[in-house]
Amino acid sequence: MKLKFYGVFGSVPRPIAMDEVREEMLSRSPATYGGNTTCLEVIAGDGKEFIFDAGTGIVKLGLQLMGRGFAPGKNGKAALFLTHQHYDHIQGMPFFVPAYIPTNEIAVYSEPKVSKTAKEILSGQMAVPYFPVKMDIQRGLVEFHEIGPGQIIRDSMEVEAIRSNHPDSSLIYAACEAGKKIVFATDYEHDGQILGKRFGPRDNALIELAKGAEMIIYDCQFTPLEYIGGDMQRFGKVMESLQTLYHDPATGKPFSEMSFDERKVVLAKELPMSKIGWGHSNAKHGIDIALAAGAKALVLTHHNPLNTDKKIDEIVEQAEQELQRRGMVGSLRIVPAYDGLEMQV
Ligand SMILES: [Zn+2]
Ligand SMILES: [Zn+2]
Repeated sequence: MKLKFYGVFGSVPRPIAMDEVREEMLSRSPATYGGNTTCLEVIAGDGKEFIFDAGTGIVKLGLQLMGRGFAPGKNGKAALFLTHQHYDHIQGMPFFVPAYIPTNEIAVYSEPKVSKTAKEILSGQMAVPYFPVKMDIQRGLVEFHEIGPGQIIRDSMEVEAIRSNHPDSSLIYAACEAGKKIVFATDYEHDGQILGKRFGPRDNALIELAKGAEMIIYDCQFTPLEYIGGDMQRFGKVMESLQTLYHDPATGKPFSEMSFDERKVVLAKELPMSKIGWGHSNAKHGIDIALAAGAKALVLTHHNPLNTDKKIDEIVEQAEQELQRRGMVGSLRIVPAYDGLEMQV
């Protein structure tokens, strides 16, 4: 299969109005990481088009598909898998031109949520007063399939979904073809790290899914330090006092006996500048997962849109150093994703 990244940022497209970012992008171009939100194209061996997520990156992909069999009168076929419906994963959809061509056949796979069908959620962003036309004129979207954890879709490739750990829930996908597997684990908050446990149940599920994968495309929105609020000393003190003194006011349960999720809620309150509970991870934890799974490459994605290219370079460098520190250089390839990155497996 052939992969091309069209969007590798989380939250919002990178704010090019921010002077620092804009200057860097202009001076580094074309070696910049880009600025679009999440979208990954995977082309199966038989040429069938698979798309994962519809952030702003899908706009450019759509324009390119118009020259690749999705123009009016042609019968372009694609399967679009959404990890979830947070805005950075669907905001490009209203501008995805192939969806407006009635002769195309695009199937959408998405999870139903908050007592709404997947189609209702997606069409909501084009309802009055958010968008000038309604989604029902996107006549190229011919099928809406509801998908959830544990499901496997058999098409030109096999696509398996498992539950991610993310607010409002999200899916992690594994795409397999001819014995080769890639895992798309964006919008994922790791287990274990803040409690000193090596792996928690969700990490173990991800490791299991990613066993022997060619690559894990992994969420690295926050650095480990940003994740705990930017102050290691303060984090240590808070943890110490929670572990010795804290009892849940309602149940009286001590911190040490709380579940992982319960502890995270307390920590998020005690450390308001932390990103605990925001549903994202970091490169260091990605290395843990990738090594445990025996994956060949760790592709860092869902970059923080407030980061400059230089800051992303530093994150990648730190990840390389971490690998070196563990004596694992050569066991795992670290690849930072950027808009336009192409890979073949
Ligand atoms: Zn996201
Ligand atoms: Zn999200």
